[in-house]
Amino acid sequence: MEQNPASVTTRPLRVGLTGGIASGKSTVARYFARHGVPVIDTDAIAREIVEPGSDVLAELIAEIGQSFLTSSGELDRPALREVAFSDRALRSRIESVLHPHILTELAARSAAAGGDYQLLVIPLLSETGLETAVDCVLVVDCPEEYQLRRLEGRDSMDETRAQRIIAAQATREERLRIADDVLVNDGSLGKLDSEVAQLHARYLKLAANRNCPPRPAG
Ligand code: ADP
Repeated sequence: MEQNPASVTTRPLRVGLTGGIASGKSTVARYFARHGVPVIDTDAIAREIVEPGSDVLAELIAEIGQSFLTSSGELDRPALREVAFSDRALRSRIESVLHPHILTELAARSAAAGGDYQLLVIPLLSETGLETAVDCVLVVDCPEEYQLRRLEGRDSMDETRAQRIIAAQATREERLRIADDVLVNDGSLGKLDSEVAQLHARYLKLAANRNCPPRPAG
């Protein structure tokens, strides 16, 4: 189909980075950032929009109740995490308040960040259906035993709790189903770093081709 020049997009390509807990997302995001790629982290957005005194915090508390506020007016994250973990209905009420605000903030930060392409870190990309917010999906994948070992090393988390969290997230298969690219993080950090460098070159090419005006006919 012939492309209409007016439809050629000039906004940066958006690469969504996702993966299970402790799969290596933050590490991968750091490596991309070292190449000068703007990184936008939805976990950071989710934390920042509910800072004490914010409208979003007020909206959330109106939905889920005062018991989730600490005496200093902060969101009681550990309490919320614990309850939301087992209460699916509460989790979806929290999401229905937070997701629209996260998406708005994600779009604003993406528009301000520039770059040839951007990395949008969305840990729950597969669970939340946020694929529409990105142009392609990069999944960091690794066997569960690596996640367990890294959670123990990074957060001193015991295996039962780690397994509970992993079980509540999308499965590896569910994530791989939405992947355009996969980084298998089962080797050294050096290997991961060089695979990121290769992907960086690929995304630069993709971004450049995407922004090319169509060739004149004939
Ligand atoms: P996520 O952001 O997905 O939760 P992180 O990037 O924080 O995961 O990685 C979890 C932990 O595992 C961190 O302590 C990180 O340094 C370590 N880690 C990640 N990938 C590797 C690897 N290939 N080799 C050794 N340690 C790793």
